[in-house]
Amino acid sequence: MNTTSPELVNFHQTPAQGTFGVIAPKDMAEILDPSDPSVYEVDYVAGYEGITFLDVERKCFLPPPDLLLDCGSEPHPAQMNWNIPTIAEDDAKEAFIQYVTRKRCYNKTPAREMVITDLQPLNTYRYRFETFTESRSASWKSEPYWGEVIDSPQNGAAPLPWAIRVDVPDMFKNKTVAIKVPHTSSVTGCPVCQCSGRKTCTLCWGQKTVPCLVCPRRRYNLFTNQTCTLCAGRRIINCEICHGQGTTACRNCGGKAQLLSYIEVQVEWKNNVFEYAANQRSGFPTELFQGVNGNTLFVNEQNMVYPVLGFPESAINQVSRTAIEQHQTQFASTTRILRQRQTIELVFISKVEYEWNGKSYSYYVYGNEHKVYADDYPRKCCYNFPIPIP
Ligand SMILES: [Zn+2]
Ligand SMILES: [Zn+2]
Ligand SMILES: [Zn+2]
Repeated sequence: MNTTSPELVNFHQTPAQGTFGVIAPKDMAEILDPSDPSVYEVDYVAGYEGITFLDVERKCFLPPPDLLLDCGSEPHPAQMNWNIPTIAEDDAKEAFIQYVTRKRCYNKTPAREMVITDLQPLNTYRYRFETFTESRSASWKSEPYWGEVIDSPQNGAAPLPWAIRVDVPDMFKNKTVAIKVPHTSSVTGCPVCQCSGRKTCTLCWGQKTVPCLVCPRRRYNLFTNQTCTLCAGRRIINCEICHGQGTTACRNCGGKAQLLSYIEVQVEWKNNVFEYAANQRSGFPTELFQGVNGNTLFVNEQNMVYPVLGFPESAINQVSRTAIEQHQTQFASTTRILRQRQTIELVFISKVEYEWNGKSYSYYVYGNEHKVYADDYPRKCCYNFPIPIP
């Protein structure tokens, strides 16, 4: 996650004369009353209602209506002439021979001698629909306070979550940035150490000493019979963790007793993907499509896209409508939709029927890589279970 400063205000710059925020006194711990609950409270910030200081959950803020898009002004994509490629018989045979050659226990004779009786192009389409969204959430953050000038609510009203300007990164790529909201900082007492900056040491539990490691039960070293040099016969040594103080610096406030608290807005850009592969080929495993590339037939990118119309395979038109409706329901009311893109790819597949030795068999050639799937190859064997060769 990146942390960026918003364009509105540079956080660490010194405010103009006369507009200074709260500057906490250097040794606030001495004047804070740890029993007063108000020293742990942060300021109420208008526009960020619903987030509480103790809540670790982020609260999502919906985009205002003027940031929501509609596709009314976008032109409808022109009607396409869909051009569907096929494979030649020679290529299908060559792919088959290559496939059998790579299989160590397949006899190559059937692949070389077989005669193709039928070649059926079975066009399979992959439809991909992407919706690139932005969402914003906020939560309180705190960190040790080092005495720097802070940008408090006295400097002005905090900008609303969606009024903070952030540059949109590359489209269709996931990214998250965190932003300190201007004018929301304040200094509070650390509730973990009750404004003392110190915590009881967890090794000696405040005793300042621990038993000697060398002679826990006797004053003399067992082997040399000399007085123990580590503890000088005292059988205890100073605690190494707290250096004999009994307390250590509070980790929550870095020993400073005070915390700088502010509201952090998290901006998340996400590419939401819907994917569909049309496969009605009995005998061909659908998951094999995932491992191959196809030819891109159609790409349509707009603020909001229209469903595909008139594609030769009607399932794609239907799936496009469903995907767009689904993303509209899922994202339009909770996020800001920045861009949409739909792609149709042809994942090429052909079923090849062939004869060898008087019997009929078949195999599939698929993907730009011309991969082969042959479930009923006539002469294959495994090491332990040989299949009878006709
Ligand atoms: Zn503390
Ligand atoms: Zn200790
Ligand atoms: Zn000792």
